[in-house]
Amino acid sequence: MAKTTIVATIGPASDNPSTLLALHRAGMTVARLNGSHSSLDWHKATIALIRETLPELPILLDIPGRKIRTIQLREEPSFNVGDRVILTTDLSHDGSEKVPVNYDLFHSKLRVGVRIYADDGTLSFLVEKVSGRDVQVVAETAGTLKSRKGINVPEIDLGQELVTPRDREMITFAKSTGVDFVGISFVESSRHVEAIRSLIEATTPQIVAKVENQGGLDHLDEIAKATDIIMIDRGDLSVETSIDHVSIYQKKIISAAQQYGKPVIVATELLHSMIESPLPTKAEISDVTNSVIDGASAVMLSGETAVGKFPVEAVARLRSIVTLAEAHRHASAPALANTAASHNDLRAATQALARTLPISKIVVLSRTGYAARLVSMAQIQQPIIAVGNDTALVRSWNLLPGTVGVHLPHVSITADSAGTIALEALWTSGHITQSDVVLVVLATTNDADASLSFLQTVRVGQLAEQQAWPLAESLEAA
Ligand code: ATP
Ligand code: MG
Ligand code: MG
Repeated sequence: MAKTTIVATIGPASDNPSTLLALHRAGMTVARLNGSHSSLDWHKATIALIRETLPELPILLDIPGRKIRTIQLREEPSFNVGDRVILTTDLSHDGSEKVPVNYDLFHSKLRVGVRIYADDGTLSFLVEKVSGRDVQVVAETAGTLKSRKGINVPEIDLGQELVTPRDREMITFAKSTGVDFVGISFVESSRHVEAIRSLIEATTPQIVAKVENQGGLDHLDEIAKATDIIMIDRGDLSVETSIDHVSIYQKKIISAAQQYGKPVIVATELLHSMIESPLPTKAEISDVTNSVIDGASAVMLSGETAVGKFPVEAVARLRSIVTLAEAHRHASAPALANTAASHNDLRAATQALARTLPISKIVVLSRTGYAARLVSMAQIQQPIIAVGNDTALVRSWNLLPGTVGVHLPHVSITADSAGTIALEALWTSGHITQSDVVLVVLATTNDADASLSFLQTVRVGQLAEQQAWPLAESLEAA
């Protein structure tokens, strides 16, 4: 069955060429950078490094968005239960006396008795007093409040703008660095996705909508319809809704994504204990296994690869667990909502042929990525080669489960002969060989409203002989 995508967050534990290569060898298929951590210069340099080291690897940049965080602190306060801490919107402080948070109106929205969470809900506080820009809280948990950790106040609407000035800056930055995906926090509506899309003004970067609060859960359908990809950030989701429900909500979000044929990334704490330990817990293994069986298209590592002691081991372990789980997936990929009937038929036909004929590979000819996504989300066993002629778009298809994007700049995807021309190029590049039987799929909606679909099985050896294609160099050498 479809290979699950592995997203690994890059940070100080992994921002060097040898670790990047090792992570890739171990099974990383997408690199993620969290724009809320490190400096813009670090991000710029790391994006360049990833492009240089692994040019085909898609990069996802999460932009800070509406998540409130502590700022970079000089001193990170530790406290016991019952101790007082002062949060403030006065940014001149550095943590030694008061801890600044990065939302200017924070103090004005809070009142006595409200509960505040920090660091993915691992710390909690009760508001005792609000005075001026300061919010004095009492710790309900012992711990340390660190730099740039998330602050959640689920019971209060903090009245933030849909798209913040920092979002605009970061989208400009994302476009200038040419990343493939941007991750948007706390998406609660299709309007939010559209607002981001209108800032992007291009086909890439594509949008990863992070569902991580009640508003997101309440509007799953419209979000799944509007976005390119969904991410389930179980960290914020568990704090904003209910930690005990998080696994149930995960299933609900996965089904919404599947219904609209959108890839869905399961994120946060998958192998959390591997930040410190070379082995995961049994519960973590069970969680990853069940996420894959439930239909996750991708699984993600955060701290494990960004700041952990065993980044490569974590990816290798994750790859091993998901590969075993894939064999136990519920073999169902129901008809898609919001999709032309002819395309659902094409998808069903592709599934049926892939299941019943001795097909070894699927070749999808895709112009916009629509066909690549349609086929990759159909849970087909065979590897999928998605061929297109736009470099950036084609690289982004490497995020799709079981899919490799192949860039063929000179192949016109809509031409009748596209199939044969593309196959010849794939033959030359060694992506397909003598013994392959491929299923070629084309599904495009052309400008004249009519949709053009195309499905063909090809014995590669026979076609190569017929067309007198020269043997690929690797085969000649053998
Ligand atoms: P999000 O809600 O987007 O998941 P987060 O703060 O939980 O935000 P993650 O991307 O999940 O961040 O990463 C987990 C932790 O790893 C972070 O809290 C941070 O401590 C660390 N981290 C991640 N990226 C970096 C980085 N580039 N530099 C330093 N530390 C990082
Ligand atoms: Mg989050
Ligand atoms: Mg996180």
